[in-house]
Amino acid sequence: MFEKQSARPACSAICASNAGRENQDRIPIDLVVDGGVALTMVEDQEPVMNSRILVSNGRIVAIGRKRDLTIPNGASYELLDATDCLVMPGLINAHAHTAMTIFRGVSDDLPLKRWLFEKIFPLEKEFLSSDTVYWGALLGCLEMISSGTTCFADGYFLQDQTAMAADAAGLRGIIAQGIIDFPAPGVPDPKENIAVGQRFIQRWKGKSELITPGLFCHSPLTCSEKTMSDAWDLSSEHHLPLQMHLSETREEVEAILSNTKKRPVDYLEGLGLLTDQLVVSHAIHLSHEEIVLLAKRGVGVVHVPESNMKLGSGVANISRMLSCGMDVGLGTDGCSSNNNLDLLCEMDSAAKLSKVFERNPANMKARETLKMATLGGASVLGLKNEIGSLEKGKMADMIVIDLKRPHLWPVYNPFSTVVYSANGSDVRDVIVNGRILMKNRNFMNLDSNEIMCRVREISRRIARFF
Ligand SMILES: [Zn+2]
Repeated sequence: MFEKQSARPACSAICASNAGRENQDRIPIDLVVDGGVALTMVEDQEPVMNSRILVSNGRIVAIGRKRDLTIPNGASYELLDATDCLVMPGLINAHAHTAMTIFRGVSDDLPLKRWLFEKIFPLEKEFLSSDTVYWGALLGCLEMISSGTTCFADGYFLQDQTAMAADAAGLRGIIAQGIIDFPAPGVPDPKENIAVGQRFIQRWKGKSELITPGLFCHSPLTCSEKTMSDAWDLSSEHHLPLQMHLSETREEVEAILSNTKKRPVDYLEGLGLLTDQLVVSHAIHLSHEEIVLLAKRGVGVVHVPESNMKLGSGVANISRMLSCGMDVGLGTDGCSSNNNLDLLCEMDSAAKLSKVFERNPANMKARETLKMATLGGASVLGLKNEIGSLEKGKMADMIVIDLKRPHLWPVYNPFSTVVYSANGSDVRDVIVNGRILMKNRNFMNLDSNEIMCRVREISRRIARFF
């Protein structure tokens, strides 16, 4: 599933009113999204006014102006009227720990080391089970659908449960088994961590078209050289991305310097891990030389500005990374350090934080920020030929944002509206793989009441722990 794998051949349909008529009549159109302003995120393409998008068998088979595209005669399809709406690619959350919704709000206002070792690790030891990870992950999926995310990359423990939750929710997931050299939920003996990851990959590879399994090394400080090298070898063997936290705090960088006499990026370079298969999140405390080396090796970076702000970890120099030509995606991190999975709000934070960091309001413009949350994430995760933009032949992962809302009106520049004015609750419809998951803000295949009741029961047990 990594980027080297080319996209499946695009459908040959043209569906234009005066071209490909013979082909077009043979294509079974399942879904038509009509009348919206389409932000395709195709390089340099302007918004398409009064657009029409035709979907067949989970893929976009035509996109253009409504007046230029006809629908095959006699076709039986679902019609989504997107008048007064924006239609755009689904958002890609490139770094999350979805099941941590069960820990939302239990540990605020602490620096990362205390937050992790005094709160999160003990809570995870006590409460993570197949049951809690499943319902926590399903709540996260519900939240992501309700705020316009159609694909997420996740690193955690007991990941069969997260994969099952994503599959049940109909979301696209790059689900990675957590690897750490401590006893962990589901992996009491750390010597077994790679074997557990291997079995997870074997169980899920090819099982669902929505799920890509993989591995997530917690960090170069909590994983040994051998563990990281073995994880990289296993990921490489299966052509899967390897996810990792990197240089999140100054303390972490100093500890690695002290242990290895190398800065973290040089340390990973020495292990041969710096390739376009590696996806690092946070990446805050990097020297200019480290950024240049990451760029040279094609390593993907995921920016998680709100978690970085909340834990007081620092600000990643995203502008420099982008100017070095790096692929950069956007993520929320877990709900215990954010405390939500709303990528529309995350974009607003990302753009404004970058302006503060550079003391330059021209830094991180709206279109560039939206690219990070769509095509950028797709590139980092090796899926840019499949998702991240609205183009013929790509998967039909898209969202509809209702513009007729006081805080979004009027609309001069749709990119500005999405990044600076919108929030997750403005998303009206969500489509993944051509399937509608949310319509008029109604969940089509999940019982939100049951999910929240289940998590309430879990949260009552957690509350008694304090
Ligand atoms: Zn994280």
